Amino acid sequence: MTTSTQNPSLSDLIRDAGVVGAGGAGFPTFRKLDAQVEHLIANGAECEPLLYKDREVMLQEAEAFVEGLRIMQQLTGAAHVTVVVKEKNADVLDVLTPLMDPLGFKSLVYRDVYPAGDEYVLVHAVTGRLIPPGGLPLQVGCVVDNVETILNVAHAAAGKAVTEKWVTVTGAVKSPATYKVPVGISFRDCIEAAGGATTPDPMILTGGVMMGGVAGGLDDEITKTIGGLIVLPADHYLIQRKTASQSTYTRIGHGQCDQCSMCTEMCPRYLMGYPIEPHKVMRTLLMTGEAKERGSLWAQYCCECNICSLIACPETLDPKSICVDAKKILRDSGTKREKVELESLTRGIHPGRSGREIPIKTLYQRLGLRPYDKKAPYLGSLPQPAKVVIPMQQHIGAPCVPCVAVGDRVRVGQCVGKVPDGQLGAPVHASIDGTVTEAGETRVSIEG
Ligand code: SF4
Ligand code: SF4
Repeated sequence: MTTSTQNPSLSDLIRDAGVVGAGGAGFPTFRKLDAQVEHLIANGAECEPLLYKDREVMLQEAEAFVEGLRIMQQLTGAAHVTVVVKEKNADVLDVLTPLMDPLGFKSLVYRDVYPAGDEYVLVHAVTGRLIPPGGLPLQVGCVVDNVETILNVAHAAAGKAVTEKWVTVTGAVKSPATYKVPVGISFRDCIEAAGGATTPDPMILTGGVMMGGVAGGLDDEITKTIGGLIVLPADHYLIQRKTASQSTYTRIGHGQCDQCSMCTEMCPRYLMGYPIEPHKVMRTLLMTGEAKERGSLWAQYCCECNICSLIACPETLDPKSICVDAKKILRDSGTKREKVELESLTRGIHPGRSGREIPIKTLYQRLGLRPYDKKAPYLGSLPQPAKVVIPMQQHIGAPCVPCVAVGDRVRVGQCVGKVPDGQLGAPVHASIDGTVTEAGETRVSIEG
């Protein structure tokens, strides 16, 4: 932490404000900005259906967002700054371009396809470079950050900690909308603000319909990395698919995969030339021991986009989940030599790639989302809730340790969880004024 005898650097301010990747990754941003790079890329290519929060960040906070880009350029020395948006959101450039032009910042409008927000896709679209398999944008001279993260950098530089989150609340709710909410507010409060669920048995997907998971329930809380709550009936196709047990998708995959390889042929990472072939991973369902480990190697560069399971497979099998399990097998067994062998198979961009990108409208149609295809306009900040729950782990790295006790009075922006000395992480802060009612290892609760 900074001391009282010296002015904090920009990097210190970003670290102490608890800025992390707001698009879902949760990587502590100050560490990313340690590097000197050629390209700084703002990821505004919101590609999950139904979500509008990145669009609204750029529209509602245009000046602060561009200031965040300027600060990040200053820190990274990036010669090129590019904001990537989808065609459907190209109108946000009417607002951004007059602010970016004087600074020499550029924009790139990407097709309305999925997945466009994958940093491997963005880096290639902006620079023509391919991130090495399993590597980071930094290895090809790039830093990529979500637009909300960049906004939070601007706020941090002005001394404001991350206490709010931009969230789209949509799906089976009365009035889909995008809000700025206190970190730690319950899903229940967010959904009630959107008029409540319109289904008697609501289930909630967090993050997105493709990559998001099914939440535990209405009492879960918004974290720094959740960008959307998608409410769906319990019998909706997506809920059924995403709640299938490991034994179910494994048993069915074992019995029904006919090795047609459509999952591989549609895999966006395979189409970029990376050594990933999910149909080969499906074969491992019949294997044990070393053979299973070797076959699992074909999963190691899976980005978990779900195209293979939700779009490609004609048998509605779940190669994505099999790949996730295979990656765990590799982690548990520790694989080195084989990784290098497969890296050498990288073959460059597939000639058919552009014809196999998935149009967003196809996702709406195939995933039963048309009834929920409604705008979710920005309706401002929600009023202070009666209670927030601040998780100690909202980031990649070590969990925070509470630095408040039950009964303490806290104010918005006050640090309530610190990163252990010498560890990577991001502190967490009170998002409402109130009294601490719980200060445990995993969370701090505050009641207003
Ligand atoms: S698309 Fe489905 S059936 Fe075909 S190889 Fe992949 S998992 Fe098997
Ligand atoms: S989820 Fe499927 S389609 Fe997506 S990267 Fe992984 S294997 Fe490829």
